[in-house]
Parts: sequence; C-alpha cells; structure tokens
Amino acid sequence: MGLMDGKVALVFGVANKNSIAWGITRKLYDEGATIGMSYAGEMLEKRVFPLAQEVNCDFVEQCDVTNDAQLDEVFEKARQRYGKIDTLVHSVAYANREDLGGRFVDISREGFKLALDISAYSLIAMARRAEPLMTDGGSILSLTYFAAEKVMPKYHVMAVAKSALETITRYLANDLGPRNIRVNAISAGPIKTLAAAGVPGFRLMLKYSERTAPLRRLVSQEDVGNAALFLASDLGSAVTGEIMHVDAGYNILGLTATEEELAGALE
Ligand code: NAD
Repeated sequence: MGLMDGKVALVFGVANKNSIAWGITRKLYDEGATIGMSYAGEMLEKRVFPLAQEVNCDFVEQCDVTNDAQLDEVFEKARQRYGKIDTLVHSVAYANREDLGGRFVDISREGFKLALDISAYSLIAMARRAEPLMTDGGSILSLTYFAAEKVMPKYHVMAVAKSALETITRYLANDLGPRNIRVNAISAGPIKTLAAAGVPGFRLMLKYSERTAPLRRLVSQEDVGNAALFLASDLGSAVTGEIMHVDAGYNILGLTATEEELAGALE
C-alpha cells in the first residue's frame, strides 16, 4: 500500500534529472501516484521524455505557463485522460539574468513583469484550472526560497516573485479550502539545478549553507520529495496555507556564523 495509491499528480517543472520537480515526481510515483507531466519547451524534450518513462508516465505535455491557451489545453487533456487530479505540483520559475545580480534598484519593468508572471501568477492560473478537476479535494504545492523572507545576495527580482508566491499560497488556501483543496509551499534550501545556475555566486551559497545550517548539510531533491509526499498525501490532511522549510534549519538562524567562526572573530 502506497501513500499515493489511487491519486493522480500533475507535475509542472521537470527540466532534467536534477530538477526539484523530478525528486518530487519520483517520490509520489514510488508511493503509488499516477503521474502526468508538463514541461516548458522543445529544447527539454530529449531529457524529459526518458524521465517520464521511468515513472510510467505517458501524459507528457508541453506548456509555457504564460500562455493561457496552452494551460487550458493541458488541463483539458488531463480531464479527458484522468477525469480528476489530486495533486498539482508547481515547480516553475524564471527571471532574466540581468535582474539577478547587479543592483536591486535597477530591476526593469519588463523583467519584473516576466519574473512575476512565470514564477508567481502562474500558480493562480494553474490553481483556477485545477480546482474543477479536484473533485475529491486535493493538494497544490509550489516551491519557494528563503529570499522571500530575508534579503539574500543577488536574488533580487526572484525574491519579490517568491514573496508573491507565498502570499498567493495563503490566499489560495483560504479560497479553495472549503472544497478541501490544500495549498502549501516548500521553502527549499539551495540545490544545484538548472534554474539555480542563473543565480550569481550560487556555488558559494551552497558551501556557506552547508557549513552554517544547523544540520551542517545541504538538502537534496529527495529531502524535498519527502516533504512533498507529506503535503500531497493524507498525512498532511489538515495542513494548508503553510510555508514548510526544508533547508536543514538554515532559516532559524539569526547569525549565520558557526561558534568556531565567532570565537575566531573575537580573538
Ligand atoms: P529547474 O531549472 O530544474 O526547474 C525550473 C523549471 O521551470 C524548469 O523545468 C523550466 O523549464 C520551468 N520554466 C521556466 N519558465 C517556464 C515557463 N515559461 N513555462 C513553463 N515552465 C517554465 O530548477 P529547480 O531549482 O528545480 O526549480 C524548481 C523550483 O524550485 C523553482 O520554483 C525554484 O525557484 C524553486 N527553488 C529552487 C531552489 C534551488 O536552490 N534550486 C531553492 C528553492 C526553491
């Protein structure tokens, strides 16, 4: 018996085997979920199709989340194929490189609109289409980052997008709660992925997080998959509107230096 037996999960955001969405997909599949996948563009096809095969998924639809017609099509095809969905995973984000790094004050209007559209508004657009398909209730999940709460170097426009995503999570949770649709976000610690490669200085951030997080380690796609399983399955049945940190404890720190470093600094 798996925790996701009989449940259908529609996952947006697998680009390759390093994607956080792939860690989530694997975990949901291992626990019995039927998987449907949507990916961003033709360039990704040769990576996404073999992964889909690994989870017995033959529903693999291309969709740019800024395109309403394409979103309509994916959800209509999911309705035709499955009749319902139980879990929706939103693991999608994008910002122009020039709006990450540089000075925050220089973020362009167009760059702001693009990042917020792809990375935040798309959650509303997907939830609206998922709602009528979640006939037995459901769970909607997205991925956020600590930069939404506290200033992190170079995150800039993506930090604003993540703040919006977290607020959207709470408002959707309130809106959809009466239909037993739960909406949560996982605030993951830094993980080496395609999207993360766009953040200047990311490799140093990885090293720094590993050294200072209370658990003294990084988090993996599998760690995030475990949390997603909790939120997607009945284990999380009373949890909604939550931002769950899966970051080896980094977010609890007021001072991100180890005791040894502090002792050294005071000598
Ligand atoms: P990734 O590059 O594997 O995934 C990002 C996905 O967004 C890709 O599949 C890409 O195709 C998709 N995407 C971008 N623009 C799109 C569009 N217009 N339409 C449809 N899809 C589009 O990287 P990831 O790190 O796995 O990112 C997944 C999520 O996790 C993102 O929301 C990211 O911000 C978040 N996150 C990542 C980290 C990290 O350190 N990697 C930490 C916290 C949160």
